[in-house]
Amino acid sequence: MKTKEQVSRRDFFKSAGVLAGAAAWVGAGAHTVEAAEKPSGLPLRRLGKTDLMIPPISLGTGPGQDVNVMKYAITQGLNFIHTSVNYKNGVAADHVAEAIKGQRNKVILGLKITWKPDDDAAMDAALETLGVESVDIAFFNIHKAEQVKDPAYKRAAERWKKAGKFRYIGLTTHKEVVACMNNALNQGFYDALMPAYSYSMEDRDAFPALFERAEKEGLGIVLMKTRKNINDDLYFDAVPHYLATAGITTINKGLTSFQDIQRMLEAAAQPADPDKGFRIRDSISIASTGHCSMCGLCEQACPLGLPVADVVRCSDYYMEHPDYVETAFETYRELAQAPSAAICLDCTLCEQACRNGVPIVHHIRRAESVLA
Ligand code: SF4
Ligand code: SF4
Repeated sequence: MKTKEQVSRRDFFKSAGVLAGAAAWVGAGAHTVEAAEKPSGLPLRRLGKTDLMIPPISLGTGPGQDVNVMKYAITQGLNFIHTSVNYKNGVAADHVAEAIKGQRNKVILGLKITWKPDDDAAMDAALETLGVESVDIAFFNIHKAEQVKDPAYKRAAERWKKAGKFRYIGLTTHKEVVACMNNALNQGFYDALMPAYSYSMEDRDAFPALFERAEKEGLGIVLMKTRKNINDDLYFDAVPHYLATAGITTINKGLTSFQDIQRMLEAAAQPADPDKGFRIRDSISIASTGHCSMCGLCEQACPLGLPVADVVRCSDYYMEHPDYVETAFETYRELAQAPSAAICLDCTLCEQACRNGVPIVHHIRRAESVLA
């Protein structure tokens, strides 16, 4: 695979499908879900080889999500909703249940599987929370590349699919993302991947080849965390370029206001221009120096195997995102063993391993003082 330096502008946009105009726009097709209203006019895209036709912008369900905004999103054609029973201590899933009540046939529902692959009770409880018998696609939530190879996931996927809990299976990951995606593709049973991917990621040039491979092998790609470390103006300029990348099906994003929805739809309707795209990527790269891109290198460097990147994420949530303060506390509380001054002493190996220059030790200290 080419290194970051070896990827030329032409290579990127060739792989991104922009030069060839090869964005994966497709027309309407077989669909078990009744077509949603589409006042946005954005063409639907097929998710890999599935029969799920979804819009290029879809709805995540993070903090700050409001039931009425979700209902509005559905009326605007954003009929693919992805959720987890863990978000906001289960409140997000309750909101989804309320938003889709009476209109399940208008929504394509995605569910993150945050429980163990042998936990049938948790699977049933999640469906009950959502008020549905099944979801359209479920995503195993795995952030360790080695774990992706565990055959228990394939067995669980087959068992739950046979039992009618979901129709399609995907994998979502926000750490060791490239390696997790590679291993998932090698497993051969996934229908879609939902990676964290942002132009601010240090290893972003490793992704287009993976997206292309996924497309060739019939997997859809649902992007998440595309806004990581990107300011508003740059982000909305970047949206059409994400969507023009070969293999990308949709951007899944928590949209917490009517204005947010309209702005995303307007951004998605803009054409992607290769030169502009490169300028945006360069600007984002410069602006994101010092911010975490969730590559996971710090955790690999930690001799104690501590969840360093999670602590950086919590600290970021606390300081940078007012809507995510509660999530920062929840996530920090759930860590088995957070790094601290007493455990780490003067080690700093994680910080030395970080190629983005993230002041990790400062984040560890801050998290310890405000979140512990
Ligand atoms: S802190 Fe640095 S090394 Fe750790 S995940 Fe973030 S960018 Fe990667
Ligand atoms: S400073 Fe702490 S978290 Fe970082 S590598 Fe050392 S022991 Fe691990």
